[in-house]
Amino acid sequence: MAKIPVCPKCKNKLSQISYYWPEEILHEKQYKEKKWFFGENFQEELELGLENMLKYHCFNCNNSYTEDFTRVVEQNYNEDRINNAKKYIEDFIEEVANKEINSMNEKEKKSFLGKPQYQHFGYGLYLRNKYIHGKKFDMRIDADGMSHQIFDRIVEKINIKKDQ
Ligand SMILES: [Zn+2]
Repeated sequence: MAKIPVCPKCKNKLSQISYYWPEEILHEKQYKEKKWFFGENFQEELELGLENMLKYHCFNCNNSYTEDFTRVVEQNYNEDRINNAKKYIEDFIEEVANKEINSMNEKEKKSFLGKPQYQHFGYGLYLRNKYIHGKKFDMRIDADGMSHQIFDRIVEKINIKKDQ
């Protein structure tokens, strides 16, 4: 990985801007340590293309910069923004898991009992096609990771129900 540059205005060490979910990248701890900044207006930024996307943030001046520093945008660190995006994704996973479980018959539900992790080859793909592709989130998501999260949620819910 390339060395992270310093702010051209105040010489503070810049943080990378992350537009990406899930948590492997957006560790809570790193976020608190200001090692990255939550990319605002993700969709609009993405449409600008990689070269014009904001890449670095200065927590000292609240400026965000493109890689070549030709574009500067002032934006503040906002805890609510990340929490809202996370909550939206969390609610989405919950909603899809419930929808899927409600559409299953008893035999299908049984196939999710125990730890069925890799028995459902096509299922992740089905979840991605049906619910995730083409959907816009306020953060960039990894469709593969998200389909796993939904799968795990379904397994968890079906197994909890069984124990009641
Ligand atoms: Zn600065």
